[in-house]
Amino acid sequence: MSNSRKPAILGGTPVRTQPFAHRVTMGQAEQVAVREVLDSDVLSAFIGSAGKFFNGGTRVLEFESAWTSTYGFKHAISVNSWTAGLVTAIGACGIEPGDEVICPPFTMSASATSCLFYGGIPVFADIDPETFCIDPASIERCITPRTKAIMVVHLFGHPADMDAILAIAAKHSLKVIEDAAQAPGVFYKGRPVGTIGDVGGFSLNFHKHIHTGEGGVIVTNDDRLAHRCRLIRNHGENAMEGMSDEEMANCIGNNYRLTEIQSAIGTAQLAKLKGHLATRTLLVDHLRKRLQGLPGLRPQAHPAESTHAYYLLPMHFDAQAAGMSRSQFVQAVLAELPKPQGFEGTALTEGYVKPLYLTPIYQKRIAIGTKGFPFNLAPAGWPVYDKGICPVTERMYEKELLLCPVVREPLTTSDMDDVADAITKVLENAEAIAATVQSENRLFTPVEAAISTDVR
Ligand SMILES: *Cc1c(COP(=O)(O)O)cnc(C)c1O
Repeated sequence: MSNSRKPAILGGTPVRTQPFAHRVTMGQAEQVAVREVLDSDVLSAFIGSAGKFFNGGTRVLEFESAWTSTYGFKHAISVNSWTAGLVTAIGACGIEPGDEVICPPFTMSASATSCLFYGGIPVFADIDPETFCIDPASIERCITPRTKAIMVVHLFGHPADMDAILAIAAKHSLKVIEDAAQAPGVFYKGRPVGTIGDVGGFSLNFHKHIHTGEGGVIVTNDDRLAHRCRLIRNHGENAMEGMSDEEMANCIGNNYRLTEIQSAIGTAQLAKLKGHLATRTLLVDHLRKRLQGLPGLRPQAHPAESTHAYYLLPMHFDAQAAGMSRSQFVQAVLAELPKPQGFEGTALTEGYVKPLYLTPIYQKRIAIGTKGFPFNLAPAGWPVYDKGICPVTERMYEKELLLCPVVREPLTTSDMDDVADAITKVLENAEAIAATVQSENRLFTPVEAAISTDVR
């Protein structure tokens, strides 16, 4: 076998050693915007009492109106992280101690933990094997008289099946919260995600499509929910004169305020989102074409009547058809490609996150205090957090799911060709790889995965 056909993991020449280009997020527009805020000397204009600056300063308001005018949302409320946004949305929806919130278990932990702060209890529904988002049929099986809301996550940038979810919510009078952290600018059947349900929003942390370092934005078309979100964001207890008891509930506030500098950066970033989404779609289309018909590998299809943000490209892996284990495949493909630089992750990962119900917080039912609150408010034996409750999620985590994160700007279709060449070469050498390479257990808990992302 010639050295270029021989897999790199078995001593052959890799497909590529030249590192992939870094993501560059900050440019001239952000620098000018930050300089203007510094020159103004007002780095935050929020005041935590009722009055003119209760909702923030000029840049905050500009940033929020950039979201409403770009996507037609009625309200946008900036916050200092999307985790803070999720907690705020849960509070605004009136979740009370003992209320149940149906969540997917295959998501960033905060999608589920956000309800715990108000005494809400996550009940986990399984995911759809094609969208990787919460499965409406599984939601119906989780509904009890205590269910108050459905947390929908548009995972990896693919919109969830909102029509079916809204129908269930209407039937049982449930609130729908959309965690669109990975899906900014996505349209589900022509409607922008975030306000298809009652309230939703986006993350602006460093790793997301656009960012402000840390940050988030809540969106809603509901005036009452928007008002409640603004109270929770900024010491709502100081602006409650004349409110009814019901309206006061949950509106004690926090300090979840985004700064003027972050907001100014955010406005410049939002102007770039459409371009990023177009690039990602182009790269994925190219990669998908190149991978078509390969044994054992199936990239997620583009949604038929909707758009996709391609935060990551998910793929199904079939070990039998590929002729090797998922771990052997990933190791062999990574050996063909350049080592990641700095904050960049590897070009291929397996499994995503451990199903959330298997993590210690649910296994031990310890969240607020030491006595098991709020889990101790649920009937005995409920909710069930046992292994096996969400078989599709567990199968994706343990066996089937691969994620390709390099479908991002500023990469090009020629970079995608290298990824496709690496994958093709590995599959052509399945027998030798299967016989030689050791399978490794690369499935980490979410915390271990976060620590392992090579922060140097
Ligand atoms: C990133 C992310 C969050 C949390 O957002 P932060 O801004 O980091 O707090 C929540 N849910 C999902 C699905 C995410 O990807």
